[in-house]
Amino acid sequence: MEATIWTDELVNRLITLWNEGLTARGIAEILTRESGKVVTRNSVIGKSNRLDLPMRKISRKLTDAERHERRVQASRRYRRKRMEAAIASGEIVKPRGRGIPVDDQQIPFAQRKTTFDLDNHTCRWPVGDPKDAEFFFCGGPSDLAGGRPYCVDHTFRSMRGA
Ligand SMILES: [Zn+2]
Repeated sequence: MEATIWTDELVNRLITLWNEGLTARGIAEILTRESGKVVTRNSVIGKSNRLDLPMRKISRKLTDAERHERRVQASRRYRRKRMEAAIASGEIVKPRGRGIPVDDQQIPFAQRKTTFDLDNHTCRWPVGDPKDAEFFFCGGPSDLAGGRPYCVDHTFRSMRGA
């Protein structure tokens, strides 16, 4: 009989484990082990229904869009971490006084480069649509010490993924 299984102690333990988010099967195994009585998954479910314990979130499969969004978030987190580490170690210098680095439209015309002008000392950050006549490369001094094809501003920006 159920009534003989569910002592107050066991009920309290059930509530605790339930709130910790364990599955009914997991709870049944723990209660069985701890109490020495046979507590089945069904009796855990029955008891939790009678106790009117709050439903827990039902885990479900993620949609493709959700999975994609999680990947995007994870890679953003990764890039941010990497950038913070690089700044902390002095590997790259955070542009001073600017939360958001260069506005590409402020790049001086004299500095702008076309594909043919680029060399190993010029920033290869593309601005605009390559099919567009307005298109140019940043052309600023590239961060050769860091072995990067971009100027400090654009290195910073490439790492923060903006
Ligand atoms: Zn640049």
